[in-house]
Amino acid sequence: MGAGYVGRFAPSPTGLLHAGSLAAALASWLDARAHGGRWLVRIEDVDTPRCVPGAAEAILAQLAALGLHPDAPPVHQSARDAHYEAALALLVAEGWAYPCGCTRADVAQALAARGLVRERHADLVYPGTCRDGLRGKPARAIRLRASPSLGAPAEPLEIEWHDRRLGAQRQNVSAAVGDVVLRRADTLWAYQLAVVVDDAAQGITHVVRGEDLADNTPRQIHLQHVLGVPTPAYLHTPLVLGDDGEKLSKQNGATPVVTDPPLPALRAAGHALEIDAAGDDLPAWLASATAQWRARWPDR
Ligand code: GLU
Repeated sequence: MGAGYVGRFAPSPTGLLHAGSLAAALASWLDARAHGGRWLVRIEDVDTPRCVPGAAEAILAQLAALGLHPDAPPVHQSARDAHYEAALALLVAEGWAYPCGCTRADVAQALAARGLVRERHADLVYPGTCRDGLRGKPARAIRLRASPSLGAPAEPLEIEWHDRRLGAQRQNVSAAVGDVVLRRADTLWAYQLAVVVDDAAQGITHVVRGEDLADNTPRQIHLQHVLGVPTPAYLHTPLVLGDDGEKLSKQNGATPVVTDPPLPALRAAGHALEIDAAGDDLPAWLASATAQWRARWPDR
C-alpha cells in the first residue's frame, strides 16, 4: 500500500479555511496518510482579482496548527505561467483549443432563454459560435473543444468516470458544459487548465476534494486525455452545509475555523466526513482518524 500515492489539497486563497475547506483539506490528508502516500499543498492563486493578500500564508498557518503538514513546500500557481502557456500552445497547435471572440454577454444572451445558472468554476455552456473562426471579431478567451475527437467535432463528448464515493458517473460534456475557457479574456488562466496541468506536473495520483467540484471532473478528464496525461483516482467528499442547509457562504456560517485549540475544528470536520475519531490530543486524534478513514475507504 502507498507506493506511488500522491495526494493534494488545492485551496484558492480567497479567504481563510472555513468548515467546508477544512473538511476537504482533512479528507485529502487522511486519504494520503491512510494509504502511506505523500500529501502536497498547492495554492491556486491564478484568479488574482479574487485572491486576498495574506490568505495563502494564513491558510498554511491554519493547516500547520491543525497538524496537517505537507510533504513538500507548497507550490503557487501564480509562479507557473510558463507551464500553462506551454500546455495551451500545444492545444492550439493541435486544434483542440481555439480563440473565441464572444463577450460573456454574447454567451449569456444566447443562453438566457434556456434558464442555465452558473455553478462553481462552471462556465456558461458555450453555443460554439467561434468554433470555425472569429469572423472578424477580436480574439478574447481561448476555449477547449468538447469533442470526442478532432475529426468528429459534431459528436457529443460523453465522459464516464468512477468516483470512489459516488460510484459510476457519466456526463455529456458537450451538453452540460460545452467548450470551456482555458485562458480568460482578461488573460488570466482558467482553473480548469491550471488544475489539470498541475495535477499532472506534480504526479498527483489521487484527488480528494469537495463534492461541489464533482461535476467539473469530466471536463478535467477530457483535458487530461487531450494533453496525454494520466487521470488520477477521484473521491468527492460530502459537502459541509451552513446552518440553513445551503452551501457554505459568509452569510450562513462560513467563518474561519478556529485552530487554537485544534481539536474542536478537526472533530467537526471529521463529523462532516462521517468519521468519529477518538483521542484527546492532536497526534492521537489524527492517528485515530487515519485508522477510521483507512477502514472506510480501503480502495484506491
Ligand atoms: N482551488 C479549487 C477551489 O478552491 C479547488 C481545486 C481542486 O481541488 O481541484 O475551488
